[in-house]
Amino acid sequence: MSDSRETQVVDAVNPQLFIGGQWRAAEGGKTFPVEDPSTGKILVEVADAGVADGKAAIDAAVAAQQEWAATPPRDRGEILRKAFEIITERTDELALLMTLEMGKPLAESKAEIAYGSEFFRWFAEEAVRISGRYSIAPNGATRLLTLKQPVGPCLMITPWNFPLAMGTRKIGPAIAAGCTMVVKPAALTPLSMLRLGDILAEAGLPDGVLNIVTTKSTGEVMEPIIRDPRLRKLTFTGSTEVGRSLVEQSAQGLLRVSMELGGNAPFIVFDDADIDDAVDGAMLAKMRNIGEACTAANRFIVHESVAEEFGTKLTAKMADLSVGRGTEDGIKVGPLVEAKQRDKVAELVDDAVDKGATILTGGSAPDGEGYYYSPTVLSDVPLDARIAKEEVFGPVAPIFTFTEEEDALQMANDTEFGLVAYAFTQDYSRAIRVYEALETGMVGINQGIVSNPAAPFGGVKASGFGREGGAEGIEEYLETKYVGLALG
Ligand code: NAP
Repeated sequence: MSDSRETQVVDAVNPQLFIGGQWRAAEGGKTFPVEDPSTGKILVEVADAGVADGKAAIDAAVAAQQEWAATPPRDRGEILRKAFEIITERTDELALLMTLEMGKPLAESKAEIAYGSEFFRWFAEEAVRISGRYSIAPNGATRLLTLKQPVGPCLMITPWNFPLAMGTRKIGPAIAAGCTMVVKPAALTPLSMLRLGDILAEAGLPDGVLNIVTTKSTGEVMEPIIRDPRLRKLTFTGSTEVGRSLVEQSAQGLLRVSMELGGNAPFIVFDDADIDDAVDGAMLAKMRNIGEACTAANRFIVHESVAEEFGTKLTAKMADLSVGRGTEDGIKVGPLVEAKQRDKVAELVDDAVDKGATILTGGSAPDGEGYYYSPTVLSDVPLDARIAKEEVFGPVAPIFTFTEEEDALQMANDTEFGLVAYAFTQDYSRAIRVYEALETGMVGINQGIVSNPAAPFGGVKASGFGREGGAEGIEEYLETKYVGLALG
């Protein structure tokens, strides 16, 4: 990949705030740098919004709300469809931009762009299927009309790990439902979202429907928006810790709230599983996005009779992965997003090893520039290791063993999180028992990936509440109104 192509792609981003359909500098001209995690070098400076900029963004969303809600559903759907087509045409450019700001290999960026844009296609189709009900009251005296209306202006806060898709999963249904919005992408990876602002404007989205605010003073700028009485919904994807504090802030305005929070996914391999399939599934569940996914398998819970075979085969595949800059051909594992993230991965591995785990491959950060960590497999991990409880968010696969099915389920559910679980078994009666008993919002049976725009994505317990995608996704942006009609 040539440096000039990289420069071109970064230069195409408008590094300002997008408010009321205009690109503008932050108050006082403040900016902050965005880094390439493979080199630590600065790619570009983007606008660093202050409190007044945040207020301008919510003002613009509020001003656009009424007219947008009255726009025909087909028109809203067509804008999404058009944006889906533009994104698809520009996949190469958008993928390179994403790899530069986030580090994941180009193939992974392309996969995210395909996944992220599908939310626009899916919700383009849902926009014209919003409907209500009509019924006769039990006493026959009145008619009951139930209709759906947009919730109103929304605030969307997204994380760095999927810079585009975590946004489109919220923006798509909000546009389809007729809501306006303020979007705040992660400070580490704001570029894909800024580019999306241009694409949606090009697709015909009216001014003020989507407003994008980038800032380093996140809490200070977000809190007044959350406490603004005109805001009607807060949707957040990120860590459980930040999610908890945002739920508290949103209590004041009794906002509609969706929280897509952290995970600690168990990946159970039963003794009757097809081990080769389980290893392939494990590679997907662990290594998608370099392990920096809320859905990433965090704990491999493997029957003791197949643990050695599973561990050996998984180790062979993990050791074979090429690590390097995501823009280069054939690279499967890019850098982690920042030094802090890499150091946390190293800390969790070191803790597990100190408590008795064995390193089958990896276990260290290579020397040189960039925030790399080698793909790692750990066996004989004790249950008191921190990695059994904490989200590792990196390319590390810890293997725990079990003997009885009920022990596997008990271990799988022994976490405050409840986003997703995976189980591999060829016994369908067991599969049913297992998916019914797992305390998670999603389960993958004999598959290592669950994300699908046509399915409801979301968690239970400390992984949050609310669903994104599927038929449920648009409901998060709709209110139900009931009208009683007297017969007279
Ligand atoms: P994070 O630190 O919670 O940040 C997420 C977003 O919240 C960022 O935009 C961040 O802004 C913002 N933020 C931080 N402090 C805030 C505050 N006081 N008020 C308002 N906003 C604030 O999480 P992350 O490290 O970016 O993302 C990783 C986490 O996201 C993991 O736990 C992962 O499991 C979770 N995740 C969950 C899902 C899901 O669907 N369940 C999907 C993807 C990721 P700054 O960038 O400025 O800090």
